[in-house]
Amino acid sequence: MARVKADCEYIYSELEKMFPDAHCELNYQTVYQLAVAVMLSAQTTDVSVNKVTPALFKRYPDAFAMAEASQKEVEELIRSIGLYKNKAANLIAMSRQLVDEYDGIVPDDMEKLVQLRGVGRKSANVILSEGYKHPAIAVDTHVHRVSVRLHLAAVDDDVNEVERKLMKRFPRDRWSKLHHLLIFFGRYMCSARKPQCESCPFRECCREMKMKG
Ligand code: SF4
Repeated sequence: MARVKADCEYIYSELEKMFPDAHCELNYQTVYQLAVAVMLSAQTTDVSVNKVTPALFKRYPDAFAMAEASQKEVEELIRSIGLYKNKAANLIAMSRQLVDEYDGIVPDDMEKLVQLRGVGRKSANVILSEGYKHPAIAVDTHVHRVSVRLHLAAVDDDVNEVERKLMKRFPRDRWSKLHHLLIFFGRYMCSARKPQCESCPFRECCREMKMKG
């Protein structure tokens, strides 16, 4: 047990040294716009999302405007990103729910968030952590991969199990920062296909390196 704690401390402090400025890379002005950007980011990059959101937010700045939108118009504005038809439908439906049930405000409650169309647990965690500054860890593909490689989770753990283990292993006041640190590490050093292992401080404790022998 002590060893796990020591490892976690080491991992956290090295990640902080590497990425002192780790932060959410989606552009937004309000929690509603954050929720929209997070929904758009499924299976695409934050960079692609940031290219479409300025025009989208100008045309539909809040839930009230988006609730009245035509599907075709929203599709046109976001058609450069993947799954744009589904995403357009989800954005409009989610905005109508917000207007009907929450006076246009994104709720700061996990159970309510996951009832919104197109919002899963990962997106809800990003909204809670980034938008409302609640301690939370959103497990996306980067967080999942690097958690396994760093032995913070098991190879066959699903995203819920990875989230549970990270929350158990790191103190609550570090959860939100940890989420950004693991994403930056996964994005800029420990990528899926071309990890930069030669300059990684975790070579000794990495599952991937051990598998390579
Ligand atoms: S050694 Fe390579 S695979 Fe392992 S954590 Fe570091 S960058 Fe990722």
